[in-house]
Amino acid sequence: MTDQRHHSIVLGADWVLCEERAAGAPEAIHDAECLACGQRSPLFDNDALPVAVWALQHTQQAPDHDRFLFRTEQHWRAVRRPDAGEGGGGRASPVGAFLDRAAGPAFVGLMCLLTALSGLLPTLTS
Ligand SMILES: [Zn+2]
Repeated sequence: MTDQRHHSIVLGADWVLCEERAAGAPEAIHDAECLACGQRSPLFDNDALPVAVWALQHTQQAPDHDRFLFRTEQHWRAVRRPDAGEGGGGRASPVGAFLDRAAGPAFVGLMCLLTALSGLLPTLTS
């Protein structure tokens, strides 16, 4: 029985880097920082929408504060390869897997943010 809680990110000789999902670790942690004054939004788990709302409200209060550094953080964990020393079969492109895992969620997050912004703008400006 394989452990489906961990999605492997990159495989080493004896260790596998995985996304940490145990102990209530969120899938992603989002926040944003205003590039004008350095003020940071609160941290939000698994949902970029509150960060987008915070950024728009910040710009409403200070219209020249309109650029933000948006961050998405993840918990990673290195675990021992379950089949270490068994020949290393089935190691298909660890770099490709890493890029897929690293770029995929960020891209999806960006698309969600853009969707959220396009949905919010008419509401906030009317
Ligand atoms: Zn600011």
